[in-house]
Amino acid sequence: QAKLGGRNALRFYSDEYTHAANQRLSLETGLRRALESELFELRYQPLIDLASDRLIGAEVLVRLSPAAALNSSPAEFIPIMEANGLIVPLGDFVRSQALRQGRAWLDAGLPPLTLAINLSVTEIRRGGLEQRIAQQLAESGYPVSLLELEITESGAMEQGERAQQFLEVIGSLGLRLAIDDFGTGYSSLAYLKRLPVHKLKIDRSFVCDLPDDASAVELVDTIITLGHQLGLSVLAEGVENVGQRDLLRARGCDACQGYLYAPALSAEEFERRFLRSATAG
Ligand code: C2E
Ligand code: MG
Ligand code: MG
Ligand code: MG
Repeated sequence: QAKLGGRNALRFYSDEYTHAANQRLSLETGLRRALESELFELRYQPLIDLASDRLIGAEVLVRLSPAAALNSSPAEFIPIMEANGLIVPLGDFVRSQALRQGRAWLDAGLPPLTLAINLSVTEIRRGGLEQRIAQQLAESGYPVSLLELEITESGAMEQGERAQQFLEVIGSLGLRLAIDDFGTGYSSLAYLKRLPVHKLKIDRSFVCDLPDDASAVELVDTIITLGHQLGLSVLAEGVENVGQRDLLRARGCDACQGYLYAPALSAEEFERRFLRSATAG
């Protein structure tokens, strides 16, 4: 009896495994096709200055187009594309589309804003990224000083020297640099101090328990103080309610983003709701 059960369990496990592997393979094929057909779209999430409550920029977030019919979120497809290298052409696509959009907004007389674009360490590891970014900036005519690159804390730590070299070259071009998901990556303070970065982005997991959880408040306070002591600007991710926003503002956090203001929006909606109203004052 026990033996039979064991065998069945094993077969069940192996079927499940095959099913998951097949799913993953068909998603990978789908992502490759989606990239070839440019079935990815950009979304823009407003970045808000806390002291003035004004728009200071937008984070660029990629989505699969509905036409790709893949029903997969960035949290799922980005790690897959990092593993199989597709993140390299995807990153090129995202940057060129975002810089073109940014240029179009400037040409339309809308207020200049910082575009924050996520970078994968896989792209850094491949090499040649510094040159590609410089070239894309030149082609787009978007001002270098209005481009910010986000690299995750864990990625920056894992790549060590390579990340530092990359960030130095990028910084020398005049771009701004942000450490994303800060607080989750076990930074060495000595290393952090050496990196030519401008901003820390406090991970959403620390913001969600504000304002009532005392240890969350203490943690966020510590990150804000640390950032300011290093001369960095500090932005909080995932701000969903007024209580969180008011606490962050009171504690001297510089900026935030989150559903309280808006989720990631299409270019048209972002322009209508945030860029046009900013012009109006
Ligand atoms: P991230 O860079 O930390 O981006 C913030 C994520 O938090 C986004 O998820 C955003 O939609 C979500 N978010 C923003 N405000 C709130 C909020 O108030 N509450 C909650 N619960 N979530 C909020 P998204 O767009 O699904 O992206 C997930 C991750 O995928 C990003 O995390 C980033 O690491 C990666 N990613 C997205 N687009 C790109 C890209 O173009 N290139 C690369 N390399 N990675 C990307
Ligand atoms: Mg980010
Ligand atoms: Mg983040
Ligand atoms: Mg995050």
